[in-house]
Amino acid sequence: MKLLIVEDERSLSRAICEYLKVEGHICEEAHNYHEAIKKTADNTYNCLVLDLGLPDGSGLDIIRELKKNKAADRVLILSARSSLEDKITGLKIGADDYLSKPFHMAELSARINSVCRRDNFNGFNELSFNEIKIRTDAQEVLINDKLLNLTRKEYDLLVFFMINKDRVITKESIVEHLWGDNVILTDSFDFIYTHVKNLRKKLLSYNCGNYIKVIYGFGYKFSEP
Ligand code: CA
Repeated sequence: MKLLIVEDERSLSRAICEYLKVEGHICEEAHNYHEAIKKTADNTYNCLVLDLGLPDGSGLDIIRELKKNKAADRVLILSARSSLEDKITGLKIGADDYLSKPFHMAELSARINSVCRRDNFNGFNELSFNEIKIRTDAQEVLINDKLLNLTRKEYDLLVFFMINKDRVITKESIVEHLWGDNVILTDSFDFIYTHVKNLRKKLLSYNCGNYIKVIYGFGYKFSEP
């Protein structure tokens, strides 16, 4: 696949490229916002690996530019653990996935492959799993092609489950993803239980499979029943 690595930290950018080339990809680099905009205007990539904090602009604006031009390039965000809001914004405006720094190269490679395997649905960004389809740019959830109405938190939660399919997700990471740093941390995250319960109830009422499993003592896992 043809990839563009947008990362201002040159040693990291180099290391990513070298790893991905060995995996058989064609890899180009952009070290700032302007280079990335130019390269994406002139070329089509299967996937952009995009750092959000660039010296001359924000990676988020690169995503906005791609979407404005209806570019089909997939986007995988690389972000610092602290920039949760950006991560969430990135997914909302059409990024396909994100990976927090630091990460393992093997994980990056697996994510790129998974992002590129996703169907492009009429030019919309789509996350899908069995009968569930999420159009991330329209923020619509379809179950068996029927539109399901979710609250904002339920929607965010479902997206989070889908992009972390088959992984155990701790309650802490859910809180961090859905509420960012604004949450007052307490010993108990029981309030999540209500959101998960409501989401599950809505999914089941649309004859959706029961994919959300409780992993006692840890959190949840979204996977085949
Ligand atoms: Ca950076």
